[in-house]
Amino acid sequence: MRGWWQEITGLVLPVDCAGCGRWRTVLCEECREALSGRPARRVWPDPVPAGLPSVHAAASYGDAVRSVLLAHKERGALTLAGPLGEALAGAVRAAVESGERGGEGAGAGWVGGGGGPPVLLVPVPSARRAVAARGHDPGLRIALAAARVLRRSGLPVRTAAVLRQRRFVADQVGLDARRRQANVFEALGVVRGGERLLRKQGVVRPVVLVDDLLTTGASLTEATRAVSGAGGLLLGAAVVAAVERAPLERAPRKSGTAEERRSFLMETAGKHLNGGTPR
Ligand SMILES: [Zn+2]
Repeated sequence: MRGWWQEITGLVLPVDCAGCGRWRTVLCEECREALSGRPARRVWPDPVPAGLPSVHAAASYGDAVRSVLLAHKERGALTLAGPLGEALAGAVRAAVESGERGGEGAGAGWVGGGGGPPVLLVPVPSARRAVAARGHDPGLRIALAAARVLRRSGLPVRTAAVLRQRRFVADQVGLDARRRQANVFEALGVVRGGERLLRKQGVVRPVVLVDDLLTTGASLTEATRAVSGAGGLLLGAAVVAAVERAPLERAPRKSGTAEERRSFLMETAGKHLNGGTPR
């Protein structure tokens, strides 16, 4: 209901720029520029969670970008999926190219060469409750828009929503990095039949995880665990925007070894597991 109504009102009523409020345009040139005007770049949260893949972002999470993401996600301004998908597509392309160069994954042999398996864009899932409340799934919608842009440019990609939340996850807003990691630890699983999508007829398809925002990297780290656990092969991750804490001129900090983190997370996640609503 909400979706088509907003799409129709967006067509007939004057709207303001979702980024800056400038009059009578869905998204002004300046805000579009803030979203996808520069080449996507590698970004890191600080500290870097163990297990986080390389992440590329199209934009910084500044005022305009934040407003556009919120207008799409919370206010259902669905026409913004186009420009957001365009921005995400740039980040995916950068992730794929970086994956090829770094030899992290199975990228080589299909881009440009053709004939190889398509890259799967796997969205980090929202809570089902949030999707129901919003009346749409913003992450999936942006991923689908990005996939269309990439296919038009000749990159073989396919959106595969193979991840789902296995248990209750609290809202991440207001939680610090460690609490966020504990909140989402082992919260994601692969949907029935997902493994077959990840490796079709024995051929592993390279995966790029996609999300709207990189904050602490907790969700992307958890999504990586779930995809890798199901036999998927990760090229990297791509986001529309990254929260910038400080210029990353120094080497990013690592937050302990994987083993240290695991024991901390097991301990704290237990509380969520016991107190959460199973779904
Ligand atoms: Zn604007």
